[in-house]
Amino acid sequence: MRRPPHPVGSLVALATALTLTAAVAPVAHAEDARPTPGAAGIGDPLFPLSGNGGYRADHYTLAFDWQAPGAAFPAVTTIEATATQALSRFDLDFAGNTLGRVTVDGRPAETRRDGDELVITPARPLRKGRSFTVRVEYTADPTQQRHRDDAIETFGWIPTPDGTVIYPQPDGAKMIFPSNDHPSLRTRTTVEITAADDLTALSNGTLVDKRPAAPGRTRWTYDSRQPVAGQLFQLAVGKYTLIDGEAADGTRLRDAIPPDLVDRVEQYRSLTPRHLAWVTDRLGPYPFDGYGLLVAHTDLGVALETQGLSLLPKADLLGDKVNAERNMVHELVHQWTGDSVAIERWSDLWLSEGHARYYERVYSEENGGANLEALMREAYRQHDIWRRDAGAPAEPTEPNLFKRMRYDGSALVFYALRTEVGADTFARIERAWTTRFRGRAAGTADYVKLASQVAHRDLAPFLTPWLYGAKTPPMPGHPDWTVDPA
Ligand SMILES: [Zn+2]
Repeated sequence: MRRPPHPVGSLVALATALTLTAAVAPVAHAEDARPTPGAAGIGDPLFPLSGNGGYRADHYTLAFDWQAPGAAFPAVTTIEATATQALSRFDLDFAGNTLGRVTVDGRPAETRRDGDELVITPARPLRKGRSFTVRVEYTADPTQQRHRDDAIETFGWIPTPDGTVIYPQPDGAKMIFPSNDHPSLRTRTTVEITAADDLTALSNGTLVDKRPAAPGRTRWTYDSRQPVAGQLFQLAVGKYTLIDGEAADGTRLRDAIPPDLVDRVEQYRSLTPRHLAWVTDRLGPYPFDGYGLLVAHTDLGVALETQGLSLLPKADLLGDKVNAERNMVHELVHQWTGDSVAIERWSDLWLSEGHARYYERVYSEENGGANLEALMREAYRQHDIWRRDAGAPAEPTEPNLFKRMRYDGSALVFYALRTEVGADTFARIERAWTTRFRGRAAGTADYVKLASQVAHRDLAPFLTPWLYGAKTPPMPGHPDWTVDPA
């Protein structure tokens, strides 16, 4: 799939077309502005149909009329968007659920479903630069899940005894709402959840309104303020005790804990302010309005860094302290790397997971966990085997994306860089990364370039063999470390 047209490229193309028009065929000018279909994806080689072309989503309003666990329920997504080309039709990413009425600017639109693409043809074409509103009514199916053979395992809707949480990574947001489901595409989101009075509803951002909606039902409205990518969206309904707090830097804290687990998780739950201070020391100010832990009453195998509200399986907070803190710090670090600094393409995932694993391990070593150097030596030993089985850190394929190479194998790249440039320079690189790209999407080339600028030397010759290729380079400062043959 092709990328959306680059603005400069479009101008060049337009200029060329205009020149040709003048010289050859006067009627071709009208052809130039002829509306064409928006692309079905943004051109990510690993997920070619993720995201969509031809328009920019400016704001989502998501309305969920929650009923009961496992029960289908009415939902409406309203998207305010701007056409970035003359559009005859455009796509949304949407999987499963039952589609209802779709309108564009209030007029009924034609729809067609093609796999996970919802193709919408408005009654009239949309000229370039025009703002428009898409409204999609549907019946949500909260039993939808998909599976991956890597660290993700199950994603989509995750049932709880009295409601749901969601696990949208990597491309499961489309099972929750019609979206532009790519990590680089982020949109400010207002979420309205209506549920029975005895339930609590949660989403990203700040609770801006809570009011009676119908007899026995309450509507909760959240505003993300900062834009959210599909894979970092959260929607939780169920019985929760909300525990409010404030970190030393003023960050508002709100944890959501199932009532029967409040006492049992307290010893770890209460450590977030300490974790926030530790990460802030290294990566700069916390990037969002608030933070909280959403403890899920499920057997979910893994946690997820949903923006401003990390989803943690209850098992993560019911075991030993070292593992609990590792999981908590990992998801918290993601708020800076992965959430605030988003990845540009899925092949940049090493930047998100490698950073989270690296800092999780550094914190753990300082707080009773395993020795970092020993862990890195072990990751080094296996690195050629991981390269063979899962690609080099920045060379994943879709099926091996969330394999161990993206975690321990990528933490090793940061360890190698720190050893190469020294701890002080490495700390400056990291702080520059989360500062310069705060709230933006950035990729592997951006990291190499920034690291080179901060270190005042070209680090591409050092980092390229670490990130690409079949063979693991020598570890700086550790000539005795060996790699097992693949
Ligand atoms: Zn992670």
